[in-house]
Amino acid sequence: PFGTLPDLIAAHARERGSKQAIVHGARAIDYATLNRAMDAVAVALQHAGVTQREAVAIVGAVGIEYACAFLGAIRAGCAPTPIAPSATGDQIAAMIADCGASVVFLDAGAAASLGDRPLAATRVALDGSDAGIAYEAFAIEGAQPDPVVIAPDDPFNIIYSSGTTGTPKGIVQPHAMRWAHVARGDAAGFSEAVTMIATPLYSNTTLVSFIPTLAWGGTAVLMGKFDARGFLEAAQRNRATHAMLVPVQYQRIMALPDFDAFDLSSFRLKTCTSAPFSAALKADVVARWPGLLVEYYGMTEGGGTCILNCTAHPDKLHTVGQPAPGHDIRLIDDDGCEVAAGEMGEVVGRSGAMMSGYHGRRTATSEAEWFDAEGRRYIRHGDVGRFDEDGFLILMDRKKDLIISGGFNIYPSDLEAVLGQHRAVRDCAVVGVPSAQWGETPVGFYVAADATPAEAVLAAVNAGLGKTQRLSALVVVDELPRSAIGKVLKRELRERYMEGAA
Ligand code: ATP
Ligand code: MG
Repeated sequence: PFGTLPDLIAAHARERGSKQAIVHGARAIDYATLNRAMDAVAVALQHAGVTQREAVAIVGAVGIEYACAFLGAIRAGCAPTPIAPSATGDQIAAMIADCGASVVFLDAGAAASLGDRPLAATRVALDGSDAGIAYEAFAIEGAQPDPVVIAPDDPFNIIYSSGTTGTPKGIVQPHAMRWAHVARGDAAGFSEAVTMIATPLYSNTTLVSFIPTLAWGGTAVLMGKFDARGFLEAAQRNRATHAMLVPVQYQRIMALPDFDAFDLSSFRLKTCTSAPFSAALKADVVARWPGLLVEYYGMTEGGGTCILNCTAHPDKLHTVGQPAPGHDIRLIDDDGCEVAAGEMGEVVGRSGAMMSGYHGRRTATSEAEWFDAEGRRYIRHGDVGRFDEDGFLILMDRKKDLIISGGFNIYPSDLEAVLGQHRAVRDCAVVGVPSAQWGETPVGFYVAADATPAEAVLAAVNAGLGKTQRLSALVVVDELPRSAIGKVLKRELRERYMEGAA
């Protein structure tokens, strides 16, 4: 059955009004107050003339006001559109224009980044700063929003893609898609959850645990800029039960020398998604951190999700698991035909959780779709992988990152696995760069763990690679460039290398 998040929060406000809904540092908001704040934002938005299904842009760091603006926009029947505050002023302005919002909520930092750039949207301050009309003044105390009827196909929110591989696109996620995330939250025990939210609220990775926590009446603990020790201290203090973290966060947490001294016995479920998560790191988390570890593979656009219960499948940690119930995942070749069993192909997926499309981008939307012989719609994931004999998906690389060198396909992940095993290498990535001789050739980047010269590492690594796979060069970097959600930005490594070579 289909329900809506605002209705569920209203029910929690009646049934457990004094329970904390959201905690942020020393501040907290209970369900009754959250419900009133949502009403106030909805009233104000309706008063400002927004129409149902319209985008409402939000740019700012995580916080309680941010969450109220997001949820209030949904109560007004609008589609909250969170935008990364880490983007440049021009990028933020472009995304606000792209989504067509007539109101934008800004915190002080975002207002400063935007400066006096002209916007079609009215600026509203999230935090009482001087971005425009102040948030409190914007709200109308005691008024009730006009009721809206929400259909499963209506937009729940618009999420800009991470931009890992190109310009961010506005992904329109309908209510039905979020409802699918909420529905599986029952089994995950979200109604008693204390969920640590340690990634930014504009990312789908965050919303897939934040929204179900509130929908089921749990407590969400918001954290600002991530630091591993601060995370463990807050988790221990709040007796956290759930957390969604990205692989680089697990890496930093597990590397703390006193990790084992923290009391994490309250944890029931830890989840992970968004980037390659090494088998060794998964095994370490399973061994030393109480509660289940579950990995999700999927994307903001939806399509097919794979789930790996790492605790239950210690022999499958090199995979991203099996298709989730109700998720149909196929692998296709360059001609759009399904590959034979066990072969490698591009992942396409279909489920109840799929985007309506990219906002205002028909061509990009149809390029992201694939139809089977019966005409059913799938979403192309842009990742290449293969199923093992037990139906677990082994993910290789993003299709855009494949290297074609002298007619051979090179999978960067194969090379990263070899490079990453060298004792002088702490962190690494391999990208393809143009080569006059081979078309493209692989180049490696690594963060050094000791003083071994790069030439010695290159020789040792190339000795362990096939003749057609050998790295042309190896570059030592202080840190790999990563997005705010911890994904390695291969595009940036490639550009940097080519600028240096020119
Ligand atoms: P853009 O589409 O703008 O380039 P993005 O693809 O990084 O950005 P997301 O939708 O956040 O944006 O990420 C989905 C991608 O993240 C997947 O296509 C896949 O490449 C990667 N990914 C997600 N989960 C996993 C996982 N468990 N293991 C490895 N990679 C993953
Ligand atoms: Mg993508």
